Amino acid sequence: MILTSKKFDTKKIHSGYKPKDFGYSATVPIFQSVAFDLGNTERADKIVQSELPGAFMYSRVSNPTVDIFEKRINDLDGGVGAVAVASGMAAITYAVLNVAEGGGRIIAPLDIYGASLDEFRTLLPKYNINFDFVENINDFDKIQELISFDTKAIYVESVSNPITNIADISRLAELAHKNKIPLIVDNTFPTPYLFNPIKFGADIVVYSSTKGISGHGNVVSGIVVDGGNFEWTKEKFPQFFEPELVLEKEGRKDSSFVGVFGKRAFNERLRTKYLRLMGAVLNPFTAYLGLLGLETLSERVSKEVLTALKIAQYLESNEHVEKIFHSGLLNTSQSKLVEKYYPNGIGTVFSFKLGGTVENTRKLLNSVKLFTYLPNVGDNRSLIVNPSGTTHREVPENERKKQNISDNLIRLSIGLENADDLIQDLEQAIEQAFKE
Ligand SMILES: *Cc1c(COP(=O)(O)O)cnc(C)c1O
Repeated sequence: MILTSKKFDTKKIHSGYKPKDFGYSATVPIFQSVAFDLGNTERADKIVQSELPGAFMYSRVSNPTVDIFEKRINDLDGGVGAVAVASGMAAITYAVLNVAEGGGRIIAPLDIYGASLDEFRTLLPKYNINFDFVENINDFDKIQELISFDTKAIYVESVSNPITNIADISRLAELAHKNKIPLIVDNTFPTPYLFNPIKFGADIVVYSSTKGISGHGNVVSGIVVDGGNFEWTKEKFPQFFEPELVLEKEGRKDSSFVGVFGKRAFNERLRTKYLRLMGAVLNPFTAYLGLLGLETLSERVSKEVLTALKIAQYLESNEHVEKIFHSGLLNTSQSKLVEKYYPNGIGTVFSFKLGGTVENTRKLLNSVKLFTYLPNVGDNRSLIVNPSGTTHREVPENERKKQNISDNLIRLSIGLENADDLIQDLEQAIEQAFKE
């Protein structure tokens, strides 16, 4: 059964899984086993040389339940392969190391997930990977100016956290490819339902599937999807062209990742070198919960998108709200990009600035009854948080200010509750916040 012509809602239920291969189990079984019987020595030889698709050996490298989760996301995004890992941060780290290991520069915007920014600013430079940050990711002239001989990639978030800036993916991909570097996109906020970066030219997509993909606030996981269209060059990316001991076999002339896997070189190398050797592996039970979440992704997200818009419109009319950051609202400077890339909405997360002092903001957070106060997004429950004190605490204050992450900024992640109930909760909390 080939599902490539099927629509999103069918794929999210069926892709990557054939019941008859798994004892006719209607739902994906959890393969809670570390290792798999190799059978006989001929079969073992084939497995270790990656010549027996669908065969498994050891769950740090691959596992049937995790494999189905990978295939399903890969199919939803239109890639050539995906590797699931233990968290969104592991996905980002492995993707970045796989392109820039050994040293190099990467261009990224400043308004990205706090832990990503912290890693890019303070940790990866210790591994010789340095970042050139831009304030506006759609400033193509500035980016072109920053690209140097050892720039290895452009890294962006499709919809940024928490301000919801929209990256112009087609133009960024064009710019990257003109300079022979790949475009890496963190597509966590829109999820594969609202946006597929590969279809617009992105090369590598990373997700924190902790968020909207799993949706129930009960798993930590991540995934890297390889678009398979980037032409790796030996000069800039020698790691894909080096002979690999693990890929050597009799009669094989080119035992490099490009030689053996062609278009899937990035994906297979990430699995073989990073997942296998650094080991941030996704466990089968978590993959199972991810698959369960995926089954209702579009139903959840489409309702949440509408509720988020309704709440944003309510907040716009509230006298105590200073400014809304929601690119899906009419007449923002990003409307054209939203129209081009996000016909079904930009997502379920947005932010606003409350008027008054920090004290008013703190009172609001302490007064909500339905919203849960915590630093997560994409949960069925509606969530509220002050990024400057939590998710973006590690970002220096002057940089936070530049990105509008002031102490009175509040981020909402909208869940599946009734929209009017959520509005009422915010209304009473704002009232409490400004009560004498
Ligand atoms: C949460 C998040 C991450 C990190 O994911 P974890 O699963 O928590 O490691 C990365 N990028 C974005 C945009 C996120 O929201």
